[in-house]
Amino acid sequence: MCIFCKIVNGELPCHKVYEDENVIAFLDINPATYGHTLVLPKIHIEKIEDASEECLSQLSRTLPALAKQIKKNCNALGFNYISNSGKISGQLVDHLHFHIIPRYENDNFSIQHGAVDCDLKEVLSTILKMK
Ligand code: AMP
Ligand code: ZN
Repeated sequence: MCIFCKIVNGELPCHKVYEDENVIAFLDINPATYGHTLVLPKIHIEKIEDASEECLSQLSRTLPALAKQIKKNCNALGFNYISNSGKISGQLVDHLHFHIIPRYENDNFSIQHGAVDCDLKEVLSTILKMK
């Protein structure tokens, strides 16, 4: 059983921020910024690509509500919402989860953009290519 399933069923402890019938949220044990929270479905699904619309809508109801609470109570100025999918992306726990990473002035968190030089026209036609 994966570590997040163990947290869901109470075998492992967590700092729980929110729970309902389908969704749980708890503090990341190794936070990127103050209030870094993980939001996940209680059922074991590996990644977004495998999730049902229902599962994603349950998660998407929770994300903004929690973010607003964190914004208000932690004085966050904004957020990065991240869901890694697959080892190559850095996914360490194979149980779908969203990171809510609150952002503050000078918090030293960064996501690199502009790292790859490519022709956007060519990229678009590749993405839209029918199989
Ligand atoms: P990811 O790289 O997207 O799979 O992220 C996994 C995240 O889970 C990391 O940020 C870890 O710090 C976090 N994590 C791992 N184990 C635990 C745990 N027992 N409780 C809370 N967060 C955890
Ligand atoms: Zn799991």
